[in-house]
Amino acid sequence: MSTPLFDRLDALPPLSPEERQLLDSVQSLARDEIAPRAAEYDRGGDFPWENVAAINGLGLNAMFVPEAYGGAALSYAAYLACVREISAACASTGIIWATNFHAVKPLIDFGTEEQKQRLLPRVAEGALGALAITEPESGSDATGMKTRFTPDGDDIVIDGGKTFITNGDVADLYLLFGKWSELGDGRGAISAVYVEKGAPGLSILRKEDKLGHRASGTCTLGFDNCRVPRANMLGAPGEGLSLLLAALNKSRPSVAAHALGIARAAFHDAVAYINERRQSGRRIVEFQGIQFLLADLATDLAMCESWLWHVAGLIDRGVSDIGVEASMLKLRASDLAMRAATEAVQLYGGYGYIKDYRVERLLRDAKITQIWEGTNQIHRQLIGRSFIARR
Ligand SMILES: Cc1cc2nc3c(=O)[nH]c(=O)nc-3n(C[C@H](O)[C@H](O)[C@H](O)COP(=O)(O)OP(=O)(O)OC[C@H]3O[C@@H](n4cnc5c(N)ncnc54)[C@H](O)[C@@H]3O)c2cc1C
Repeated sequence: MSTPLFDRLDALPPLSPEERQLLDSVQSLARDEIAPRAAEYDRGGDFPWENVAAINGLGLNAMFVPEAYGGAALSYAAYLACVREISAACASTGIIWATNFHAVKPLIDFGTEEQKQRLLPRVAEGALGALAITEPESGSDATGMKTRFTPDGDDIVIDGGKTFITNGDVADLYLLFGKWSELGDGRGAISAVYVEKGAPGLSILRKEDKLGHRASGTCTLGFDNCRVPRANMLGAPGEGLSLLLAALNKSRPSVAAHALGIARAAFHDAVAYINERRQSGRRIVEFQGIQFLLADLATDLAMCESWLWHVAGLIDRGVSDIGVEASMLKLRASDLAMRAATEAVQLYGGYGYIKDYRVERLLRDAKITQIWEGTNQIHRQLIGRSFIARR
């Protein structure tokens, strides 16, 4: 490409020299190891342990764990830049790693000192996390969850079930939301607890066969008289909803970075292809109708990526009431991922529909980005209703 557009966009996140160096290593890893393995993992649907090991080889779990607990915490912008690189190479691997962050960040932000000392060093060394909110009857309206937490001496007894849980089959640590039995069934009863792998009464009931993200496990979990120590509770009984909303403010920009990785990969592949492919004696890129399409995609990519770094900056500066900005970012990034992947397939013509080319996988991987972490209908609602004046 002859334009410096993307180089300048990549220079936008205010990374320290140390963070830039890490991002360089992640880019090399993504290009040389993760991307070449992505098609095979997509075909076989096996969990990409090699990729997870390579990511941990660079110490990437440590980058969000504070030093006091065995990590080497870097900025949120650096984390997002890494999510985007890994997801562009293999969206399954990207969401597996990002899910660790989604599950563990609330522990870093809201856990007790004892919990952090006990659990975080394992995460820094590469333990996998899962965030369990969705239930079969409670998706977009998470407050309708039915999973019950019943206190019993020094333990909490958990009964219920969760569905569609990323990393559900491989996680070492689950951040689980449910309702505190003594507080009734309303949203004020929502509470949060960390469940460790192997807890008695926790079972993995089902693994989904999916359209995309085929190497990332998506599981139904059952909790039958499952016991965890009360010491694993995050916050107090009834504080779960505010913990959940705070967690989503950091996980939504993260899934947006993941979606933007897919969007970039699709745009990059499409541009490379139509610069080579010829019809009617010209390269496809020379047709003006195609240039208009590229112009719209590139403009939206540039705007959306700029917004990504804006939101990252807010979070790095400690601004917490960023729900609307995070929703805007998730909405636009995921719609763009789907559009860029669809147009990339279109620009490849019939070859785009064939599994030999990456754009076919990108299209399948893009769709879920509009559904998870709040569907885009829900995000439009959240943004729109923020303008209702309080009377
Ligand atoms: C691959 C995958 C991975 C996932 N990973 C996780 C995970 O790690 N952890 C987790 O907790 N969950 C996870 N999920 C669940 C995901 O977040 C939910 O699927 C999503 O929130 C939607 O819930 P639902 O599927 O029950 O759809 P529903 O809520 O039943 O929605 C169905 C449709 O109705 C629309 N709709 C619903 N309510 C409204 C409304 N008020 N106004 C307008 N339209 C509305 C929705 O937008 C959607 O189009 C995952 C799902 C998948 C498929």
